[in-house]
Amino acid sequence: MRILVTGGSGFIGSFLCEKLLSEGHQVVCLDNLFTGNQENIDYLKANPNFSFVLHDIIEPFYSEEKIDQIYNLACPASPVHYQKNPVRTIKANTIGVINMLGLARAHQARILQASTSEVYGDPEVSPQDETYRGAVNTIGPRACYDEGKRCAETLFCDYKRMHGLDVRIIRIFNTYGPKMALNDGRVMSNFIVQALKGEDITIYGDGNQTRSFCYVSDLVDGMIKMMNSDFSGPVNLGNPNEITIKTLAERIIEKLNSKSKLIFMNLPEDDPKQRCPDISLAKSKLNWEPKVYLDEGLNYISDFFKKKIENIV
Ligand code: UDP
Repeated sequence: MRILVTGGSGFIGSFLCEKLLSEGHQVVCLDNLFTGNQENIDYLKANPNFSFVLHDIIEPFYSEEKIDQIYNLACPASPVHYQKNPVRTIKANTIGVINMLGLARAHQARILQASTSEVYGDPEVSPQDETYRGAVNTIGPRACYDEGKRCAETLFCDYKRMHGLDVRIIRIFNTYGPKMALNDGRVMSNFIVQALKGEDITIYGDGNQTRSFCYVSDLVDGMIKMMNSDFSGPVNLGNPNEITIKTLAERIIEKLNSKSKLIFMNLPEDDPKQRCPDISLAKSKLNWEPKVYLDEGLNYISDFFKKKIENIV
């Protein structure tokens, strides 16, 4: 198959491209490199089945060659980055999504939307299952992403209803792994880099807020299973092992034998207090559940950041 991956140079996108190539597909990676990094995909360029196109999905994209499947991942995903230019974030999730849906329609391709746990906002129920409608502050600093992604889900469903388009929607919960950018700004990369450098670990708020961290290879397996299933979703993909941010910091310090101290800073506005996926649907529809424990995944990501930091210093 010929498969388009938008946001293919990003952290998750680059793992997805690699996996699809290993399955023998032709992969077109499309990225505007706003947060994506060429380094993530450089090693794939030797593969004749791989091609890279520098393109922003906010602009229409045409292909003469038939496209069979589209994974739409293009959008900055770290709060620091998606808030840098909120209007652009909204454009990626509306105009960009319409462009990709139009492309899918023209090619009669199946299209998968990388939606997010952020559609649940600051959830009042835990764990969150797919029937929960969410609690999003429409006028807050996270809304450009949360409402953008909610609108993208709506567009996907309207294209399905109006045009019979073959759509898939996944809701991705916090994911981590090698190839995250040093300056990504999310908690995993911040804490590990701080612990490795012996710098203070910056806990926002009291650290009692929770997240559930999924290792990237598990997520990518779930994405591919979802794309090739008969179920259109939405489906949660994430690891249901919930942990407080303070405990995460302590685990990282212990694992890396770090001298870093915890410091407590202001909690960003609208920061969700809890987040944990109910993955019953993914288990029953896709026969999917994560396999990599946090302890093991932390080893992989720490090794990666160690090497990255050594190269830089
Ligand atoms: N966080 C933190 N210190 C950091 C970065 C993040 O305490 O240096 C907290 C953040 O406030 C949130 C959680 O860690 O409660 C996860 O934040 P992240 O930016 O990774 O993603 P989110 O799940 O909020 O989208």
